Amino acid sequence: MSDSIHCVRCGRADAPALGKPPLRGALGAEIASRVCADCWQEWQRAEVMVINELRLNFMDPSAHEILLAETRRFLGLDGAPGAEVEKRPDPR
Ligand SMILES: [Zn+2]
Repeated sequence: MSDSIHCVRCGRADAPALGKPPLRGALGAEIASRVCADCWQEWQRAEVMVINELRLNFMDPSAHEILLAETRRFLGLDGAPGAEVEKRPDPR
């Protein structure tokens, strides 16, 4: 088990790993293997704003799907850069 990963969002090759999946299911496993702990924390803060902005109501099952899609987009899991990504130069 390694402590660092190559993060798809910030692009760092030795970013701190989450250690364990932050969400249940396949998405949680994917995030743990591809997104660093710092970027996940950024999303934790952004998530609150996204929920407010989109007025997501979790009584509505589609709200969960929308939030998952926003999570993937923010973290750049589908290849598209996240909304506020700043490319940092790879130190190597
Ligand atoms: Zn990162």
